Amino acid sequence: MSLHEIGEFGLIERLRRSSRTFDGVVLGIGDDCAALEVPAGELLLVTSDLLLENVHFRLDWTDLADLGAKAVAVNLSDIAAMGGKARHLVLGLGLPASMTLAEVDRLLDGFLAEAAACGVSLVGGDTCRAEQFLSIAVTAHGTVPADELVRRRGAKPGDLLYVSGTLGESGLALRQLELGMNPEPELARRHFRPQARLALGRALARAGLATAMIDISDGLLADLGHLLAPDALGAELFRAEIPFCPAFDRVAGENPELRELQLHGGEDYELLFSVDPARHSDVAALAIESGTRLTGIGRVTAPGEKVVIRDRDGGTVRPGPGGFRHF
Ligand code: ADP
Ligand code: MG
Repeated sequence: MSLHEIGEFGLIERLRRSSRTFDGVVLGIGDDCAALEVPAGELLLVTSDLLLENVHFRLDWTDLADLGAKAVAVNLSDIAAMGGKARHLVLGLGLPASMTLAEVDRLLDGFLAEAAACGVSLVGGDTCRAEQFLSIAVTAHGTVPADELVRRRGAKPGDLLYVSGTLGESGLALRQLELGMNPEPELARRHFRPQARLALGRALARAGLATAMIDISDGLLADLGHLLAPDALGAELFRAEIPFCPAFDRVAGENPELRELQLHGGEDYELLFSVDPARHSDVAALAIESGTRLTGIGRVTAPGEKVVIRDRDGGTVRPGPGGFRHF
């Protein structure tokens, strides 16, 4: 059967049947609006991301199930960065008529499987024909107790800076793909199947540990800049502390330009957060308890200071101009 034969409403009905619904959904897919509960005393978090063919992804490199899953993960990563619990998804689809039903199913299977794995309900959306290119617009809702909300703003001079996981793999995989190479599975997985750090974001918020937090989507330096900007703070980063995985180390080798992808490769979807130094042992305890690598990579400095990156000998590293810019 083709997309044309099943039609918009046939497709929506398939979505409704295959999506799992969790707590708090009074009305999901099928009415004019979804009707959703927000627990008393909690704030509703709302975030959107657009994924456009040939801007954010290329179908010749990308498996559609991975793409569906990634569309969920990149949105939920923003909920994680506020310390929220992810709740609902709204999915806008622009489907080229040339897409087969099997292809659409693969995309939706990946989307719904990731949503279910994260305990999030698909509650609505819109489905249209696109002239040429696939577009996926996702809105995610989360909730957070009002006194646990963690913002980008809030870091103080002297706070320690931490990142979760390891950085650079996704950027390195993308670089290899652009060069027509086949990235190692460990790198490719980080690029095609990022995971939102939902449990960690909640744990940091619940414990009141993060004074400020952001997820790393644009690259460490760019996102650190967003965290420091509101109060024009500076930071000192220790280059040798920035964590990488063995595959990154092997592939990037001694090539400084590739190693710099740790600083501005982007799409890491790790959490960058600041912590009062008096609580550094609580971070170490949380890392052990949650089985998550949390690495201190530097500290926040006074307003008006710059971001300085120190090498092992205390000298200054000058990163090249990097980072993804849309325009
Ligand atoms: P309306 O014309 O009132 O906007 P639609 O016919 O577009 O309604 O949608 C009917 C129902 O199907 C709504 O509940 C809508 O949220 C849901 N829906 C449509 N497209 C999607 C989609 N891609 N994912 C999830 N739900 C969808
Ligand atoms: Mg509609």
